[in-house]
Amino acid sequence: MKLVLATHNAHKVDELRRILGDALDGIELIGYDGPEPVEDGDSFEANALIKARAASAFTGLPAIADDSGISVDALGGAPGIHSARYAGGRDDAANLELLLSNLGANTNRAAHFTCAAALVVPPPVGAVGPDGPPSAAEAGEFVELGIWPGTVLLEQIGPNGFGYDPIFKPSGMSVSAAELRAEEKNAVSHRALAFAAIMPTVRAQLLGE
Ligand code: IMP
Repeated sequence: MKLVLATHNAHKVDELRRILGDALDGIELIGYDGPEPVEDGDSFEANALIKARAASAFTGLPAIADDSGISVDALGGAPGIHSARYAGGRDDAANLELLLSNLGANTNRAAHFTCAAALVVPPPVGAVGPDGPPSAAEAGEFVELGIWPGTVLLEQIGPNGFGYDPIFKPSGMSVSAAELRAEEKNAVSHRALAFAAIMPTVRAQLLGE
């Protein structure tokens, strides 16, 4: 059974294969090279669904997508859904510097990463009747959230990861997210939690389990 991951980033397909491991038994996770939709939703959930819907509509296959970012309490939840382009472009170093500068010496450094994982399963042919469009569940739309709490460090620490990892210290840990090995991060991150939460639905929808 094929499942499309709605990303043009081959690295993300590999990462998700590693995160999910056995949960993918019987499922072939494939990449997506169709058009990318405008992510104009007002939440992580809405943007993940926009991406999964576009990939499912283009391929005619079930599709999953994620949307993620970091939210800082003292900045009113910013950058949130704008994490990837906080400083204007898709520039991780500039985004991170802007976040550190906006937070300054604020002693409230609480923050969390959020990931929304969405699954869209195409409706069977003829499923949309004269009574109007099906509900989200009838149309096969599902979304789950994963939250990874922590604090923002005063400066960058650690060589691994990407994005805001060097300035994020996960709750209960004494190192930054960029000091974790990939497999350590993949066991506890917001992305791991969101996909662990959606996988039972994926397996139920695709394999009837
Ligand atoms: P997305 O690819 O649209 O979900 O954008 C996610 C953005 O949020 C990335 O560009 C990063 O800036 C940030 N982000 C999401 N997850 C992580 C993470 O695990 N570590 C560090 N930054 C992250």
